[in-house]
Amino acid sequence: MSKESNHFEISKQKDYLYVIKENISLVHPVYTNDPLNIYLLLGTHTALLLDTGCGLFPIKPIVDELIGKRKLLVFNTHYHWDHPLGNVEFEEVYIHENEVEFVSKPYDVSYFKDSPNQIVKVYEEQNFLIPPAKVIKPLKDGNVFDLGEIGVEVIHCPGHSAGSICLLTSTGELFTSDVAYYGDQFLPKKEEFSIVLNSLSKLINICKKQEIVELYPSHRRYPCDLNLLTDLYKGIENIEKIWDTKEAFNFFDFYESWQIDDDKFRYYISKA
Ligand SMILES: [Zn+2]
Repeated sequence: MSKESNHFEISKQKDYLYVIKENISLVHPVYTNDPLNIYLLLGTHTALLLDTGCGLFPIKPIVDELIGKRKLLVFNTHYHWDHPLGNVEFEEVYIHENEVEFVSKPYDVSYFKDSPNQIVKVYEEQNFLIPPAKVIKPLKDGNVFDLGEIGVEVIHCPGHSAGSICLLTSTGELFTSDVAYYGDQFLPKKEEFSIVLNSLSKLINICKKQEIVELYPSHRRYPCDLNLLTDLYKGIENIEKIWDTKEAFNFFDFYESWQIDDDKFRYYISKA
């Protein structure tokens, strides 16, 4: 078995849907949302890869083998480090227009230089600056793509980041990116919770209108159902009431946060 396929765990969820899992705690133990779920959708003539992962081992050879002769579209759900660092392997990558600039230049991961994990040598060999894809193209809310018997619609869901997107397929899957998953949540400052809640209610409304919707988050377990969205919505709405229980927690020097726990989630709330 190749080194790549030992690193990634690949599973076939449906005839047209593969999940390529990568453990992000390999990079630094502070990140606990294992695994990262990278999704590959196979239409009749076009495939869509949703995220390229941590950039530790080549992912393209795996994708090439799975897609056969199909054309490939590559999307990033958002710019946070665990999602776009394999972009360099691809000619062209799409991301929401708000985050094009973050992934158009070398991605600085120097905050991992003191990681206790040996795997960061992969980043060190690149001076902790991971190169981007050659071409970055912008996505907007409502953009649609035809993969051949599967249609995909881009839903802009700001909150977790300004350019987070979710994808709704004509076959009834909703890819919720880092906007919703069962795991530790990274939220903006409290004053911006309404943005997060608006995005979640947009997704809740979509689910209620569709006949079958399965939720495929970018971290941890899948598929989930509508309860994920309503649990998270209620949890975030309730944070104000448990605000006194917060404790300070910093991720390196770029994310100073308050940590608050309830019975379903841990929340990291940005101080800035
Ligand atoms: Zn993530």
